[in-house]
Amino acid sequence: MLPLRKNIAEMSAYVPGFQPSDERPWVKLNTNENPYPPAPGVREAILAELGESGQSLRKYPEARTQAARDVAGELYGFDSDWIIMANGSDELINNLIRACAGEGEEIAFVHPSYSYYSTLAEIQGARVRTFGLDEQFRIQELPERYEGKLFFLTNPNAPLGFCFDNDFIRELASRVDGLLVVDEAYGDFAQANALALVRELPNVVVTRTFSKSYSLAGMRLGLAIARPEVIGALDKIRDHYNLDRLAQAAATAALKDQAYLARCVERICNTRERFSTGLRALGYEVIPSQGNYVFATAPDRNGERIYQGLFDRRILVRYFTDPVLSHGLRISIGTDEEMDRTLAALKEIG
Ligand SMILES: *Cc1c(COP(=O)(O)O)cnc(C)c1O
Repeated sequence: MLPLRKNIAEMSAYVPGFQPSDERPWVKLNTNENPYPPAPGVREAILAELGESGQSLRKYPEARTQAARDVAGELYGFDSDWIIMANGSDELINNLIRACAGEGEEIAFVHPSYSYYSTLAEIQGARVRTFGLDEQFRIQELPERYEGKLFFLTNPNAPLGFCFDNDFIRELASRVDGLLVVDEAYGDFAQANALALVRELPNVVVTRTFSKSYSLAGMRLGLAIARPEVIGALDKIRDHYNLDRLAQAAATAALKDQAYLARCVERICNTRERFSTGLRALGYEVIPSQGNYVFATAPDRNGERIYQGLFDRRILVRYFTDPVLSHGLRISIGTDEEMDRTLAALKEIG
């Protein structure tokens, strides 16, 4: 018998979105990756860091990723002690749970949203509470005071794509005894964000990822913005070399090219609106989205049938067996050409 903790022995592993091998090409719209390459400066910075012989890799990286903290601080208007860089925003979510929620203590999130919060809480032996949504996407049965350690608010919501506004987030923060973590994985695609609330309220933390808007899912980069006390706690418990040299170079270069980011985001948002219009013309119900994906429901409300029809045509989208989501599909926004192919396939499937 392995000497495993009971919660580890009993938990089931998180299943990430399917990554097909590239032997025969797929239209891959299942994990909200960006269809465009990262900013050109990213490749240059990685090659420069690597050097001719790869010599720089002999040595450990700078432990704090300070250069990227400085650039991010300037970009968002915070002192750099309000910023932490991470090996994907998943690392931040994990370390927030490790820092705050002990064995038997509680964290919460909205259902449906990002179910990986639950896996990470289980690893810590923390308890999980979820709050459902009503028809108007309001959180149901929100208590006057939420006494758990952490409340994760995915905003824009994934997989549905709608946003909570800052008045609501402010109200929610005032009811949460612990930290309110606003997971802005898709924040760059949205019309608003909660950065002002980080400054205004003591218990609001914002997390961001480079995986979607910056086209760097393969690099594993994320950041958080919070008061220096929170950042200090996260610094204590992270791997002391959490970002390798190439990732640090990539992060700084990506943050520095905001013009490229803006162009890329604009293109994806334009494609999203075109695609949503096309879906509605086919009779689909589409939730207005502020992310790089849409949640769409066919007239027969059978998500699995459409998923299968697309799969047979080598188009990969995300289907969830969860009963609150199984009527629809989450479809990432790719290039215009990919979305046109998807619309043509949906028309054929009927
Ligand atoms: C993609 C995603 C993440 C994970 O981001 P990484 O930086 O790739 O770890 C976190 N939260 C949500 C809601 C996401 O969609």
